[in-house]
Order: sequence, then C-alpha cells, then structure tokens
Amino acid sequence: MNQKVKHCARCSGVCEVKVLGLVSGEDAPLKLTVHGMPAFVCVKDHKAPVHGDFMIWLIQELRSRESQFAAGKEQGLLFKKYLCGECGKELAGKPERRLAVPFDLTYEGMQAFKIEIDMPMYKCGGCGKEQIRSAKDLHGHIPAAIVAVNDEAGFPHSG
Ligand SMILES: [Zn+2]
Ligand SMILES: [Zn+2]
Repeated sequence: MNQKVKHCARCSGVCEVKVLGLVSGEDAPLKLTVHGMPAFVCVKDHKAPVHGDFMIWLIQELRSRESQFAAGKEQGLLFKKYLCGECGKELAGKPERRLAVPFDLTYEGMQAFKIEIDMPMYKCGGCGKEQIRSAKDLHGHIPAAIVAVNDEAGFPHSG
C-alpha cells in the first residue's frame, strides 16, 4: 500500500495507519461493535479516519447489508403494532433476545475488519420466525450509531 505521509490535524505529528481495538456505538435499539478498524494515529495518539469519506462509506456498507435481516412490518400511525414479515401475526411486545451479526469489511485494499450489527430479535408466536421488529428500526439508526462509533474512536467531527 503506497500512501503519502499524513500529518495530524491537531498536532501536525506524522500519522501511521494502525488498527484500533474494540470500538462500539449505540443508537437504541441498534448497537454496533467494530473490531480492528484501520485509522490514522499520530505519535500523540490523536486518531482520525483513514479517509475523509470513511464514515460515510461505513454507513453505506451497513445499509447494503440491511436486507439480510428478516424484518416485521410496522402498522398504525399513533399506536404502533409490529406484524411478522412472514405470516402477518402480531409480534410479541418484548424481544426474545439480542443477536449480534458479524460482517467482514475491507476499505480500499486495507486490512479487513469486522463489524457487528446487534439488534433485538422478536420471535413470531405464529410461525416461529425470528426477526427485527421493522426494517426502519435498523435503517433509521445507522447514521447516529456510526456517529457514536466515530466519537468512541476519538475521531474529529467531519463529513
Ligand atoms: Zn496529533
Ligand atoms: Zn410469523
């Protein structure tokens, strides 16, 4: 990998690409955990994303995986009900458990890392299918959960 020298925006020290440990972020009900995310780290341990578009790319990657989650259907404007996406029976009011689904990601030829999408799962009393309550429950919370990951990683606000 050939990259020009990157200087830290905060102290102008030289940055190196390093792999971060566990970074998590939450925007309830969605919880994200990232393992081994690449980042620029300077000698004073200031951190920055490996590219200005990295966090946006991360959001797009997560959104492209949303359809892998079976989802119920939201019904009602004021008083919401959630129906099984499979058989249409009303889902239980409380989730059965949380499930963390891991995905491997690679940003532009860098070392692969892992992200876990952790969501409450609801089991249908009719057909037994396990699912998230609605696709919106995941989709709508991805950007804020990524902002939380950004902050937890110690990245500045940009993009
Ligand atoms: Zn620095
Ligand atoms: Zn069902």
